[in-house]
Amino acid sequence: MTKITVAKGDGIGPEIMDATLEIILAAGAKIEIETIDIGEKVYLSGNTAGIAKESWDIIRRNKIFLKAPITTPQGGGYKSLNVTTRKFLGLYSNVRPCLSLHPFVDTKHPKMDLVIIRENEEDLYAGIEHQQTDEVVQCLKLISRPGCEKIVRYAFEYAKHNGRKKVTCFTKDNIMKQTDGLFHKVFDEIAQEYPEIENEHWIIDIGAAKMADTPEAFDVIVVPNLYGDVLSDIAAQIAGSVGLAGSSNIGEECAMFEAIHGSAPRRAGQNVANPSGLLQGAILMLQHIGQMDIAEKVQNAWLKTIEDGIHTYDIYQEGISTQKVGTKEFALAVIANLGHKPKQLQAVEFAHGTQMNLPKYVRKSPAKKQLVGVDLFVHWTGSQADDLAKVVSQINQNNAELIMITNRGIKVWPEGFPETFCTDHWRCRFKGLSSPQQIPLLLEKAISLGIDVIKTENLYEFDGKAAYSLGQGQ
Ligand code: NAD
Repeated sequence: MTKITVAKGDGIGPEIMDATLEIILAAGAKIEIETIDIGEKVYLSGNTAGIAKESWDIIRRNKIFLKAPITTPQGGGYKSLNVTTRKFLGLYSNVRPCLSLHPFVDTKHPKMDLVIIRENEEDLYAGIEHQQTDEVVQCLKLISRPGCEKIVRYAFEYAKHNGRKKVTCFTKDNIMKQTDGLFHKVFDEIAQEYPEIENEHWIIDIGAAKMADTPEAFDVIVVPNLYGDVLSDIAAQIAGSVGLAGSSNIGEECAMFEAIHGSAPRRAGQNVANPSGLLQGAILMLQHIGQMDIAEKVQNAWLKTIEDGIHTYDIYQEGISTQKVGTKEFALAVIANLGHKPKQLQAVEFAHGTQMNLPKYVRKSPAKKQLVGVDLFVHWTGSQADDLAKVVSQINQNNAELIMITNRGIKVWPEGFPETFCTDHWRCRFKGLSSPQQIPLLLEKAISLGIDVIKTENLYEFDGKAAYSLGQGQ
C-alpha cells in the first residue's frame, strides 16, 4: 500500500480526479489517499502561494502527489503553484509521453510515439529578471552541470528502462555556446555510457520543425526547460489533443503526476470533461511506485475504450466515434474494459522488476579559475560609441584597459558600423586585470566620473580556456 497525496484542484479538476481514482481503484491500485486543498480557494483566502503550510507537510511526508489542474486567479501577486512545487521539491525531470491513437483520434501523424523529457528547474525559468535602463530588461538564463547531468542521465535511463532506442537532444548551442553548449556537452558525455542507445543532437529550430512534420523520426527527446515547455505542448497537440496527455515531475525524493491541460473552468460541473490526461498522469504514477501490473491493466483498458469509439466531446468524431459520453460514463467504460486489451492499437507491457540507475550528483574537482577581465554594463543615453569610449577609457588603470564596447551583444567599438541600432544599455569590456581588487577601483572611478554602471560580470578562464562569450562581430 502506498500513501499518496491527492489534490482535486479547480474547474473540471474534481470531476476528472474522481473519474481517475475510481478507475485505478477498480483496477486494484494499492494506494491510500490523503486529500489536500490547493488552488483558487486557497489563493482567494489571501494565500498568494495557493497552498497552506500543512499541505506542504503532507506532500513532503507522502512523497507521491497526484494533482488535478488548478485555476490561477487573474491579476497580480499570485504565484504559479506548479512552478513552486517543481522547484521546492526538486522535481527536476518532467516526462511527457505523446502517443497518437490513429485512427480513433484524429491526427496527421498516425505513427507518432515519443516522450519528451524536459529539464524542470533551471534555464530562463529561474525567474531572475531586472530592468536595468529605461530601455532594457533582462532575464538570467542559468544552466548548471548538475542540472544537465541529472536530466540527461534520466533521459538515457528512461530510454533503457522502457525499451526505447534513441535519445535526441535539442539545443541552440550555435548561439548560446556557454549555456546550451554545456547542455549539449553533458549530453555527449553521458551518451557514451549508453552505447546500446542511439543518440543525436539537433539545433532546436530545425529539430522542432522536423518534430512537428515527422514526429515518428523521434523516440525520446531531452531538452532544456523553455524549449521543453513549448515543444511538449506542440507534441501533445499534434498527437491528437492536449486533453489526452499526462505528465510526471520526478525528483530524487518526491514526484508529482498531472494532466498537461488546465482547469477548463467553462466546462466545469457539466460532466463533459475528458479524464484521460489525468488518468495518463495516474498511470505514470502507478509505474513510478512499482505497481506495473495495475498500470498496464489501466492503460490497456483505456486504449480499448478509445478503440471502442467511446469518446468524450473533445475527441468525438462522426464516423469514428460510436458513443459520445460524459466524464462519469467514460470512467465506467474504462472500468468495464479492465482486463481487456486493445485489438488495433498496440497493447502495452511495462518493464517489470528493473530500477532506473540514478546516482546522486557528485561534485567534480574544481577547475583552475583565473580572473582575466570584467564587463561593466552602463546606462548611457548617447548615441555614438566613440563618445562613450572616450569617457569610459578615463577609468583605465595599470593594465586594466577598455578593449571593446557592445550594445545588445553586438560590437560597436572599436570599428562599429554606423548602421547598428543602439539602445541605452552598453557593455564595456576591460581586459588585463591583475587582481580582483581592481574591480572596485574601476567602479569607484566610474562613479566619480558620473558613469551609471548598472552591473558587472567578471570574465574568467577555467583551466586556461576563456569561459565567456565574445562580442558579436569581435
Ligand atoms: P485549459 O487547458 O484549462 O483549457 C483550454 C480548453 O481546452 C478548454 O476550454 C477546453 O475546451 C479544452 N480542455 C482542456 N482540458 C480538457 C479536458 N480534460 N476535457 C475536455 N476539454 C478540455 O487552458 P486555459 O483555459 O488556458 O486555462 C484555464 C485555467 O487553467 C487557468 O487558470 C490556468 O492558469 C490554469 N492552468 C492550470 C494548469 C495546471 O494546473 N497544471 C495548467 C495549465 C493551465
